[in-house]
Amino acid sequence: MRPDPLYARYPFFRAAREAVQRADISPPRLVTEGDPAVERARERVERALMSGTVESETPGRWSDRDELLSYPIARILVSLVDVRAAVEKYAEAEAETAFERLTADLEADDAALRSVSTPRADLGTVLDEFDLDGAVRRVDGDRGRAGYRIDVTAYLRLADPDWGDGWRLVNRDLADGTVPVDDAELTRLLREAVRRRVADGLPFEVRGSSGGDAIADALAEDVATLRDRLAERERLPDVDAVVPAQFPPCMQALLEDDEDPLDPHAAFAATAFLVSLGLDADAIAERWPVLDDGSLSYRATVLDDRGGSQYPAPSCATMQTFGDCVNPDERCETIDHPLRYYAAAVADADADANAD
Ligand code: SF4
Repeated sequence: MRPDPLYARYPFFRAAREAVQRADISPPRLVTEGDPAVERARERVERALMSGTVESETPGRWSDRDELLSYPIARILVSLVDVRAAVEKYAEAEAETAFERLTADLEADDAALRSVSTPRADLGTVLDEFDLDGAVRRVDGDRGRAGYRIDVTAYLRLADPDWGDGWRLVNRDLADGTVPVDDAELTRLLREAVRRRVADGLPFEVRGSSGGDAIADALAEDVATLRDRLAERERLPDVDAVVPAQFPPCMQALLEDDEDPLDPHAAFAATAFLVSLGLDADAIAERWPVLDDGSLSYRATVLDDRGGSQYPAPSCATMQTFGDCVNPDERCETIDHPLRYYAAAVADADADANAD
Protein backbone atom coordinates (compact mmCIF):
# COMPACT_ATOMS: atom_id res chain seq x y z
CA MET A 1 0.00 0.00 0.00
CA ARG A 2 1.41 3.43 -1.01
CA PRO A 3 -1.07 5.96 0.34
CA ASP A 4 -1.41 9.57 -0.75
CA PRO A 5 1.06 11.38 1.59
CA LEU A 6 -1.68 13.89 2.38
CA TYR A 7 -3.65 11.12 4.09
CA ALA A 8 -0.71 10.46 6.39
CA ARG A 9 -0.99 14.07 7.60
CA TYR A 10 -4.79 14.09 7.73
CA PRO A 11 -5.81 10.45 8.37
CA PHE A 12 -9.35 11.45 9.44
CA PHE A 13 -10.20 12.61 5.89
CA ARG A 14 -12.99 10.51 4.36
CA ALA A 15 -10.78 9.64 1.42
CA ALA A 16 -8.07 8.39 3.82
CA ARG A 17 -10.55 6.05 5.49
CA GLU A 18 -11.74 4.83 2.11
CA ALA A 19 -8.13 4.21 1.05
CA VAL A 20 -7.65 1.97 4.10
CA GLN A 21 -10.90 0.16 3.34
CA ARG A 22 -9.95 -0.30 -0.32
CA ALA A 23 -6.58 -1.75 0.64
CA ASP A 24 -8.51 -4.40 2.57
CA ILE A 25 -6.13 -4.19 5.51
CA SER A 26 -7.20 -6.07 8.58
CA PRO A 27 -6.40 -4.33 11.88
CA PRO A 28 -6.45 -7.68 13.74
CA ARG A 29 -3.74 -8.99 11.43
CA LEU A 30 -1.67 -5.82 11.82
CA VAL A 31 -1.90 -6.11 15.58
CA THR A 32 -1.17 -9.81 15.83
CA GLU A 33 1.69 -9.57 13.32
CA GLY A 34 3.26 -6.61 15.16
CA ASP A 35 3.11 -4.26 12.17
CA PRO A 36 5.07 -0.98 12.65
CA ALA A 37 1.77 0.91 12.36
CA VAL A 38 0.77 -0.63 15.69
CA GLU A 39 3.82 0.80 17.42
CA ARG A 40 3.12 4.19 15.88
CA ALA A 41 -0.50 3.88 17.10
CA ARG A 42 0.77 3.27 20.65
CA GLU A 43 2.91 6.38 20.39
CA ARG A 44 0.01 8.31 18.87
CA VAL A 45 -2.25 7.59 21.83
CA GLU A 46 0.42 8.01 24.47
CA ARG A 47 1.50 11.37 23.06
CA ALA A 48 -2.13 12.45 22.85
CA LEU A 49 -2.79 11.62 26.49
CA MET A 50 0.50 12.88 27.90
CA SER A 51 1.48 15.78 25.65
CA GLY A 52 -1.64 16.96 23.82
CA THR A 53 -0.26 16.18 20.36
CA VAL A 54 -0.12 13.11 18.10
CA GLU A 55 3.02 14.33 16.35
CA SER A 56 5.69 11.63 16.53
CA GLU A 57 8.84 12.22 18.55
CA THR A 58 10.72 10.36 15.79
CA PRO A 59 8.92 11.27 12.57
CA GLY A 60 11.70 9.88 10.36
CA ARG A 61 10.94 6.39 11.64
CA TRP A 62 7.49 6.14 10.14
CA SER A 63 6.34 5.74 6.57
CA ASP A 64 3.18 7.37 5.21
CA ARG A 65 1.60 3.94 5.42
CA ASP A 66 2.49 3.63 9.14
CA GLU A 67 1.07 7.09 9.82
CA LEU A 68 -2.17 6.41 7.98
CA LEU A 69 -2.77 2.94 9.44
CA SER A 70 -1.84 4.05 12.94
CA TYR A 71 -4.97 6.22 13.06
CA PRO A 72 -7.62 3.45 12.96
CA ILE A 73 -5.49 1.36 15.33
CA ALA A 74 -5.18 4.32 17.72
CA ARG A 75 -8.98 4.59 17.71
CA ILE A 76 -9.17 0.93 18.71
CA LEU A 77 -6.64 1.54 21.51
CA VAL A 78 -8.53 4.55 22.84
CA SER A 79 -11.78 2.57 22.75
CA LEU A 80 -10.14 -0.20 24.75
CA VAL A 81 -8.76 2.26 27.32
CA ASP A 82 -12.41 3.35 27.59
CA VAL A 83 -11.95 6.29 29.96
CA ARG A 84 -13.93 9.39 29.08
CA ALA A 85 -11.04 11.78 29.75
CA ALA A 86 -8.83 9.66 27.46
CA VAL A 87 -11.31 9.87 24.60
CA GLU A 88 -11.60 13.65 25.00
CA LYS A 89 -7.86 14.15 25.22
CA TYR A 90 -7.25 11.96 22.22
CA ALA A 91 -9.77 13.86 20.06
CA GLU A 92 -8.33 17.18 21.26
CA ALA A 93 -4.79 16.09 20.43
CA GLU A 94 -5.71 14.91 16.93
CA ALA A 95 -7.51 18.22 16.39
CA GLU A 96 -4.61 20.27 17.76
CA THR A 97 -2.09 18.49 15.53
CA ALA A 98 -4.35 18.94 12.52
CA PHE A 99 -4.79 22.60 13.44
CA GLU A 100 -1.03 23.17 13.54
CA ARG A 101 -0.53 21.35 10.23
CA LEU A 102 -3.41 23.16 8.60
CA THR A 103 -2.19 26.55 9.81
CA ALA A 104 1.25 25.81 8.37
CA ASP A 105 -0.24 24.52 5.12
CA LEU A 106 -2.44 27.55 4.60
CA GLU A 107 0.41 29.95 5.41
CA ALA A 108 2.58 28.13 2.89
CA ASP A 109 -0.29 28.38 0.44
CA ASP A 110 -0.54 32.14 0.94
CA ALA A 111 3.20 32.63 0.69
CA ALA A 112 3.44 30.47 -2.42
CA LEU A 113 5.93 28.36 -0.52
CA ARG A 114 4.44 25.07 -1.57
CA SER A 115 7.04 22.40 -1.99
CA VAL A 116 6.60 19.29 -4.03
CA SER A 117 8.15 17.20 -1.26
CA THR A 118 5.65 18.21 1.45
CA PRO A 119 2.04 17.48 0.54
CA ARG A 120 -0.10 20.31 1.81
CA ALA A 121 -3.84 20.70 2.20
CA ASP A 122 -5.43 23.73 0.58
CA LEU A 123 -8.39 25.52 2.04
CA GLY A 124 -10.81 24.36 -0.65
CA THR A 125 -9.99 20.72 0.05
CA VAL A 126 -10.52 21.12 3.79
CA LEU A 127 -13.76 23.07 3.42
CA ASP A 128 -15.02 20.42 1.05
CA GLU A 129 -13.98 17.71 3.51
CA PHE A 130 -16.28 19.17 6.16
CA ASP A 131 -19.11 20.09 3.77
CA LEU A 132 -18.35 23.78 4.22
CA ASP A 133 -17.38 24.57 0.64
CA GLY A 134 -20.68 26.34 -0.07
CA ALA A 135 -20.78 27.97 3.36
CA VAL A 136 -17.57 30.02 3.30
CA ARG A 137 -16.80 32.91 0.95
CA ARG A 138 -13.53 34.84 0.80
CA VAL A 139 -13.82 38.64 1.14
CA ASP A 140 -11.36 41.48 1.61
CA GLY A 141 -10.28 41.56 5.25
CA ASP A 142 -8.83 44.26 7.46
CA ARG A 143 -5.44 45.70 6.51
CA GLY A 144 -5.25 43.53 3.43
CA ARG A 145 -5.46 40.24 5.41
CA ALA A 146 -7.66 37.43 4.19
CA GLY A 147 -11.17 37.56 5.53
CA TYR A 148 -14.18 35.33 5.06
CA ARG A 149 -17.90 35.29 5.55
CA ILE A 150 -19.42 32.05 6.78
CA ASP A 151 -23.08 31.05 6.76
CA VAL A 152 -24.50 31.69 10.17
CA THR A 153 -25.85 28.14 10.52
CA ALA A 154 -22.37 26.69 9.93
CA TYR A 155 -20.91 29.27 12.32
CA LEU A 156 -23.36 28.41 15.07
CA ARG A 157 -22.80 24.70 14.51
CA LEU A 158 -19.04 24.98 15.10
CA ALA A 159 -18.37 28.05 17.27
CA ASP A 160 -18.61 27.69 21.02
CA PRO A 161 -19.52 30.81 23.05
CA ASP A 162 -17.25 29.43 25.78
CA TRP A 163 -14.29 30.35 23.55
CA GLY A 164 -14.88 33.97 24.58
CA ASP A 165 -17.27 36.86 24.13
CA GLY A 166 -15.87 37.59 20.69
CA TRP A 167 -17.43 34.35 19.45
CA ARG A 168 -20.96 35.28 20.55
CA LEU A 169 -23.23 35.98 17.63
CA VAL A 170 -24.32 39.32 19.14
CA ASN A 171 -20.73 40.48 18.77
CA ARG A 172 -20.55 39.55 15.08
CA ASP A 173 -21.69 41.64 12.15
CA LEU A 174 -24.48 39.35 10.93
CA ALA A 175 -25.55 40.33 7.40
CA ASP A 176 -27.30 38.37 4.67
CA GLY A 177 -27.19 35.24 6.78
CA THR A 178 -23.39 35.32 7.07
CA VAL A 179 -20.90 36.43 9.71
CA PRO A 180 -17.31 37.60 9.21
CA VAL A 181 -14.31 35.57 10.40
CA ASP A 182 -10.63 36.18 9.84
CA ASP A 183 -8.29 33.45 8.65
CA ALA A 184 -7.21 32.44 12.19
CA GLU A 185 -10.85 32.16 13.25
CA LEU A 186 -11.73 30.09 10.21
CA THR A 187 -8.88 27.69 11.03
CA ARG A 188 -10.19 27.57 14.61
CA LEU A 189 -13.62 26.54 13.34
CA LEU A 190 -12.04 23.87 11.15
CA ARG A 191 -10.15 22.60 14.20
CA GLU A 192 -13.47 22.09 15.92
CA ALA A 193 -14.79 20.23 12.88
CA VAL A 194 -11.77 17.91 13.10
CA ARG A 195 -12.23 17.37 16.85
CA ARG A 196 -15.85 16.40 16.36
CA ARG A 197 -15.06 14.03 13.54
CA VAL A 198 -12.34 12.30 15.55
CA ALA A 199 -14.54 12.06 18.66
CA ASP A 200 -17.51 10.80 16.66
CA GLY A 201 -18.13 7.15 17.47
CA LEU A 202 -15.51 6.92 20.22
CA PRO A 203 -15.28 4.79 22.23
CA PHE A 204 -16.72 1.82 20.36
CA GLU A 205 -17.12 -1.81 21.36
CA VAL A 206 -14.03 -3.74 20.33
CA ARG A 207 -14.65 -7.05 22.07
CA GLY A 208 -17.43 -9.01 20.46
CA SER A 209 -16.86 -7.50 17.02
CA SER A 210 -15.26 -9.48 14.23
CA GLY A 211 -11.66 -10.14 15.29
CA GLY A 212 -12.22 -7.81 18.26
CA ASP A 213 -11.38 -10.27 20.99
CA ALA A 214 -8.05 -11.13 19.38
CA ILE A 215 -7.19 -7.42 19.06
CA ALA A 216 -8.21 -6.70 22.65
CA ASP A 217 -6.08 -9.61 23.90
CA ALA A 218 -3.09 -8.53 21.80
CA LEU A 219 -3.34 -4.93 23.03
CA ALA A 220 -4.20 -5.73 26.66
CA GLU A 221 -0.74 -4.83 27.95
CA ASP A 222 -0.70 -1.51 26.07
CA VAL A 223 -4.15 -0.66 27.37
CA ALA A 224 -3.08 -1.36 30.96
CA THR A 225 0.05 0.75 30.52
CA LEU A 226 -1.93 3.67 29.08
CA ARG A 227 -4.46 3.51 31.91
CA ASP A 228 -1.64 3.46 34.47
CA ARG A 229 0.11 6.40 32.87
CA LEU A 230 -3.11 8.35 32.71
CA ALA A 231 -3.81 7.70 36.38
CA GLU A 232 -0.23 8.50 37.34
CA ARG A 233 -0.37 11.78 35.42
CA GLU A 234 -3.56 12.71 37.17
CA ARG A 235 -1.82 12.27 40.50
CA LEU A 236 0.47 15.19 39.78
CA PRO A 237 0.78 17.51 42.76
CA ASP A 238 -2.02 19.98 43.20
CA VAL A 239 -0.39 23.33 43.94
CA ASP A 240 -2.48 26.46 43.65
CA ALA A 241 -0.04 28.99 45.09
CA VAL A 242 1.50 31.15 42.37
CA VAL A 243 5.08 31.94 43.35
CA PRO A 244 7.03 32.68 40.17
CA ALA A 245 10.32 32.76 42.09
CA GLN A 246 9.86 29.01 42.72
CA PHE A 247 9.01 28.11 39.13
CA PRO A 248 11.38 25.54 37.59
CA PRO A 249 14.19 26.91 35.42
CA CYS A 250 12.46 25.88 32.18
CA MET A 251 9.32 27.88 32.99
CA GLN A 252 11.33 30.84 34.19
CA ALA A 253 13.22 30.86 30.90
CA LEU A 254 10.09 30.51 28.75
CA LEU A 255 8.13 33.15 30.63
CA GLU A 256 10.97 35.64 30.79
CA ASP A 257 11.48 35.44 27.04
CA ASP A 258 9.46 38.48 25.96
CA GLU A 259 11.39 39.17 22.78
CA ASP A 260 9.95 36.63 20.38
CA PRO A 261 6.67 34.71 20.27
CA LEU A 262 7.07 31.25 21.77
CA ASP A 263 7.03 28.17 19.58
CA PRO A 264 3.65 26.37 19.78
CA HIS A 265 5.05 23.54 21.93
CA ALA A 266 6.65 26.01 24.35
CA ALA A 267 3.46 28.10 24.55
CA PHE A 268 1.49 24.90 25.21
CA ALA A 269 3.90 23.79 27.96
CA ALA A 270 3.96 27.16 29.72
CA THR A 271 0.18 27.64 29.48
CA ALA A 272 -0.48 24.11 30.73
CA PHE A 273 1.84 24.71 33.67
CA LEU A 274 0.09 27.96 34.63
CA VAL A 275 -3.41 26.53 34.11
CA SER A 276 -2.39 23.71 36.47
CA LEU A 277 -1.84 26.39 39.11
CA GLY A 278 -5.43 27.56 38.67
CA LEU A 279 -4.76 30.60 36.48
CA ASP A 280 -7.12 31.52 33.66
CA ALA A 281 -6.32 33.18 30.35
CA ASP A 282 -6.87 36.75 31.62
CA ALA A 283 -4.58 36.29 34.61
CA ILE A 284 -1.93 34.67 32.42
CA ALA A 285 -2.11 37.44 29.79
CA GLU A 286 -1.79 40.13 32.43
CA ARG A 287 1.30 38.66 34.08
CA TRP A 288 3.01 36.99 31.13
CA PRO A 289 2.39 38.94 27.91
CA VAL A 290 4.69 36.57 26.00
CA LEU A 291 1.85 34.03 26.13
CA ASP A 292 -0.80 36.48 24.96
CA ASP A 293 -0.50 35.56 21.29
CA GLY A 294 -4.12 35.56 20.17
CA SER A 295 -4.57 31.83 20.84
CA LEU A 296 -4.10 32.06 24.60
CA SER A 297 -7.76 32.17 25.53
CA TYR A 298 -8.52 29.15 23.41
CA ARG A 299 -5.42 27.27 24.60
CA ALA A 300 -6.25 27.89 28.24
CA THR A 301 -9.83 26.71 27.71
CA VAL A 302 -8.69 23.47 26.11
CA LEU A 303 -6.11 22.90 28.81
CA ASP A 304 -8.54 23.53 31.62
CA ASP A 305 -10.56 20.86 33.32
CA ARG A 306 -12.38 18.68 30.79
CA GLY A 307 -14.37 15.73 32.05
CA GLY A 308 -12.78 15.98 35.46
CA SER A 309 -9.30 15.39 34.19
CA GLN A 310 -7.07 18.34 33.54
CA TYR A 311 -4.79 18.27 30.51
CA PRO A 312 -1.40 17.64 32.05
CA ALA A 313 1.52 19.97 31.63
CA PRO A 314 4.31 18.18 29.70
CA SER A 315 6.80 16.06 31.63
CA CYS A 316 10.52 16.79 31.75
CA ALA A 317 11.06 14.07 29.11
CA THR A 318 8.72 15.85 26.71
CA MET A 319 10.25 19.23 27.52
CA GLN A 320 13.70 17.81 26.73
CA THR A 321 12.48 16.37 23.44
CA PHE A 322 11.30 19.79 22.28
CA GLY A 323 14.36 21.64 23.55
CA ASP A 324 12.29 23.43 26.22
CA CYS A 325 14.26 22.05 29.19
CA VAL A 326 16.51 25.03 29.92
CA ASN A 327 19.09 25.54 32.70
CA PRO A 328 18.19 22.42 34.74
CA ASP A 329 19.52 22.67 38.28
CA GLU A 330 20.18 20.25 41.13
CA ARG A 331 16.54 19.84 42.05
CA CYS A 332 15.84 18.79 38.46
CA GLU A 333 17.86 15.64 39.09
CA THR A 334 15.29 14.54 41.66
CA ILE A 335 12.06 15.04 39.70
CA ASP A 336 10.47 14.02 36.40
CA HIS A 337 7.96 16.81 35.96
CA PRO A 338 8.06 20.63 36.18
CA LEU A 339 5.03 20.56 38.49
CA ARG A 340 6.84 18.19 40.85
CA TYR A 341 9.80 20.58 40.79
CA TYR A 342 7.50 23.47 41.66
CA ALA A 343 5.64 21.62 44.43
CA ALA A 344 8.95 20.66 46.06
CA ALA A 345 10.36 24.19 45.71
CA VAL A 346 7.24 25.77 47.25
CA ALA A 347 7.27 23.23 50.11
CA ASP A 348 10.97 23.90 50.79
CA ALA A 349 10.44 27.67 50.74
CA ASP A 350 7.51 27.30 53.15
CA ALA A 351 9.60 25.11 55.45
CA ASP A 352 12.44 27.67 55.39
CA ALA A 353 10.00 30.48 56.18
CA ASN A 354 8.53 28.54 59.11
CA ALA A 355 11.98 27.76 60.45
CA ASP A 356 12.93 31.47 60.54
S1 SF4 B 1 14.48 19.04 34.24
FE1 SF4 B 1 12.27 19.38 34.11
S2 SF4 B 1 11.83 20.95 35.64
FE2 SF4 B 1 14.03 20.99 35.28
S3 SF4 B 1 14.34 22.55 33.72
FE3 SF4 B 1 14.18 20.60 32.65
S4 SF4 B 1 12.00 20.40 32.14
FE4 SF4 B 1 12.18 22.00 33.69
